[in-house]
Amino acid sequence: MPCYRCGARQTDPVRGASPWQRGVRHETQVLICPDCQRLHDLDLDSCSTCGSSALICRLGEVECRSCGAVRQARSDALTAPAGTPPPGLSAEVEAALNRVLGRA
Ligand SMILES: [Zn+2]
Ligand SMILES: [Zn+2]
Repeated sequence: MPCYRCGARQTDPVRGASPWQRGVRHETQVLICPDCQRLHDLDLDSCSTCGSSALICRLGEVECRSCGAVRQARSDALTAPAGTPPPGLSAEVEAALNRVLGRA
């Protein structure tokens, strides 16, 4: 996964932990390269509990790696959950019922 901001490709660290930072932006897991980490306009999502931007996003949840707080990812960033009828279906069902019941 390249840096979300500049598109740089991650290279294997010579030793130790990768200097690349993981974060969450608009409910999406992103990677930030060491150069872009120095900027202050990264526009990352931050923890509502402690303000940290060290978040990980998985399975529709966003977890803070600093304080451990977990919140649901915003639903408007996700596809509709299974089982939710598409818009307009209830109107069709109602129209069909009205036909069956002779109320059309
Ligand atoms: Zn970058
Ligand atoms: Zn936190």
